[in-house]
Amino acid sequence: MAYAIDKEKCVDCGYCGYVCPFKAVSEQCENGRYYYVIGESCTGCGQCAETCPAVCIAPAPGHRAIKRVSIDASKCIGCSLCMRNCPAAAITGVIKSPFRIDESKCIRCGVCASKCKPQAVCVEYV
Ligand code: SF4
Ligand code: SF4
Ligand code: SF4
Repeated sequence: MAYAIDKEKCVDCGYCGYVCPFKAVSEQCENGRYYYVIGESCTGCGQCAETCPAVCIAPAPGHRAIKRVSIDASKCIGCSLCMRNCPAAAITGVIKSPFRIDESKCIRCGVCASKCKPQAVCVEYV
């Protein structure tokens, strides 16, 4: 699991579920409602933690935060797989030419790297 919610501090606003691009936040109604992160779906982008007004979401132990994601133009074959899977519309390009990432839009989820077959996406960790 990349991120975790402290249910004792949660104020039940639901923002985390609303902002998560990967539908990785779920809720459970048993002895009161609480939210939790679905480990297999969470990419660790941190969007939920940035939005949480109660500051009750944090990286789980062992999580490696991404500092920067870029595309190596010499390896990119211009297939567009990264662009089609980017939840932030941060990738642009023309088929069969190298694609590029707009750092100002990138939420550093790393999904593009996991989709790229020629491993043209470089991920730098914090
Ligand atoms: S860290 Fe990102 S993927 Fe994980 S639950 Fe939060 S918003 Fe969703
Ligand atoms: S998935 Fe990889 S090869 Fe395809 S366009 Fe993106 S960076 Fe280039
Ligand atoms: S890491 Fe890749 S897929 Fe995720 S937002 Fe940035 S460019 Fe898009």
